[in-house]
Amino acid sequence: MAWVGLFVLVGRHIRPLLKSELDMRCYDCLQEARSDITGIGVCSRCGLATCEKHARVRQVQVTRQVGMGAASGRIPARRVVCRTCDMAETAH
Ligand SMILES: [Zn+2]
Ligand SMILES: [Zn+2]
Repeated sequence: MAWVGLFVLVGRHIRPLLKSELDMRCYDCLQEARSDITGIGVCSRCGLATCEKHARVRQVQVTRQVGMGAASGRIPARRVVCRTCDMAETAH
């Protein structure tokens, strides 16, 4: 299979995903000294790799400009955040 460029959204910036990041270890697992768990994704907020256990996959509504207003699409988009960023976002 040919290597195609992948891009990752970090905050509001898009940067190319480095090939080495595809086999990165989950940062939260590294913190807990479990280095054997491979990341399944990259947090869209902090850009660190996160595994299936530590990732939070959220559904987000995509809004488009329609005339003078905004319309939300019928199909929700998807976004991955790590456990730490998820807690930071949901903490009151
Ligand atoms: Zn993990
Ligand atoms: Zn994060």
